[in-house]
Amino acid sequence: MASHIDKEMETLLRTAVEYSPCGLLVIDARSRIVLVNREVERIFGYTREELRGKSFEILLPASSRNYHAVLAEEFFENPEMRAMGMGRDLRGRRKDGTEIPIEIGLNPVKTNGGLYILSSVVDISARARSEQRFRAAIESAPSGMVMVDRSGTIVLVNRETERLFGYTREELLGKSVEMLVPERFRSRHPEYREEFFRNPGTRLMGAGRELYGLRKDGVEIPVEIGLNPIETDEGLLVLSAIVDISSRRRAEEALRTVAEDLKKSNQELEQFAYIASHDLQEPLRMIAGFLRLLEDRYKSSLDEKARNYIEHAVDGATRMSRLISDLLLYSRVERRGKQAEPVDMNSALELALANLRMSIQESGATVTKDKLPTIQGNPAQLVQLFQNLIGNAIKFRRKGVAPRIHIGCDPQDGRWLISVRDNGIGIAPEYRERIFMIFQRLHGRKDYPGTGIGLAICKKIVEQLGGSIWVESVFDEGSTFYCTFPKNQPAP
Ligand code: ADP
Repeated sequence: MASHIDKEMETLLRTAVEYSPCGLLVIDARSRIVLVNREVERIFGYTREELRGKSFEILLPASSRNYHAVLAEEFFENPEMRAMGMGRDLRGRRKDGTEIPIEIGLNPVKTNGGLYILSSVVDISARARSEQRFRAAIESAPSGMVMVDRSGTIVLVNRETERLFGYTREELLGKSVEMLVPERFRSRHPEYREEFFRNPGTRLMGAGRELYGLRKDGVEIPVEIGLNPIETDEGLLVLSAIVDISSRRRAEEALRTVAEDLKKSNQELEQFAYIASHDLQEPLRMIAGFLRLLEDRYKSSLDEKARNYIEHAVDGATRMSRLISDLLLYSRVERRGKQAEPVDMNSALELALANLRMSIQESGATVTKDKLPTIQGNPAQLVQLFQNLIGNAIKFRRKGVAPRIHIGCDPQDGRWLISVRDNGIGIAPEYRERIFMIFQRLHGRKDYPGTGIGLAICKKIVEQLGGSIWVESVFDEGSTFYCTFPKNQPAP
């Protein structure tokens, strides 16, 4: 009975050894292979018959055979369980001559027949391969990659780090990462690092702070640093990806200067337009005034032709005056717009309609409207906006069709959409952007009078309040002008 159980145990053990995912082999005191399992056959490509009785060295590359012979001798003198070749690259040699990275564990086994070694062999090619890939990926990364342990010691750097900081990797490995931090930030750095290890996560370093790296030559470079925690056998490490942002900084700086210059010259230009148009009004009024005097006083002594000339001159002066006052309005939009206050758009619209009463009556226009909101803006400018849009809707009506105009309001996500719809002549698609530019008109003065400034003023008013303006139209059927206004806009 007992021997029956022993037999069963033995079978079980044999099977366990045979199918172990780890290569197992037993070596006798003379380093001869006594027993191997399937995994050893797989790893080394020999059959067990080929291995039995051979020296263990058959499984080692020629270069390390002597070393192993010494090691084996030592082991038999001082047998205890140990892992072999920890920390160094141990390699096995396959039957086909190729070498593979392996890990070996040694266990002494004492039997009546003497001392044996039970040796476990693990093929770590896959692990070595993925480590190799990881290193290759880091090496060729376009950013500087620096891996640091909890104490701040640099354990890995790539080529780009060498280029970025001007150190060789030998000068960096094993040193404190603080050598790459400018002196004035250095004392706080360990604290930040501790904080990261307490709360590891992928993130940007120093959100909101400007970061600098210190090169070997003492020059500081502005950098952006991404932090990634990496869990390894040696514990948690942090992998930093460092990007030199000098050129981006320079570009930003240049852009800022250009924007400031532009703003200044724009202001100067507006100032100029304002003063010029203001000063031009005066002599123009004089011209028109004297022309009228001439006409009144000398009407009887002038012939038809002369009266005609005077009429043309008065007409020109009036138009010029109109142009100048529109220009003045345009250049004033910015100044006035600076003081924003809550404006009830319903009242602004009422005022605009009151100003347009004459042309509404003359054209027989009907105007309908939705209830409008109160927004932040300048009251006079919003009156102006409605007056220009509705004025155009009346002016650009179709012949023989009474204008029907609707002012609509559509509350949208975060903004108001205000529309002015007409049933007028419409605008061909190719002109729908151009009409918002100053002096751009689509018609001769004879057909429709105007200066071409009205919509440019509208655009300026709307954009100043943080909104936008555009038109949708069907030629010969009508147009709808849309303006958006942010719902909770900050004061401009
Ligand atoms: P103006 O009305 O003084 O010509 P605007 O800047 O107000 O200048 O308008 C520019 C041009 O856009 C107009 O000349 C006209 O051709 C076109 N336009 C504006 N509003 C309308 C409209 N409601 N329907 C058709 N065309 C329009």
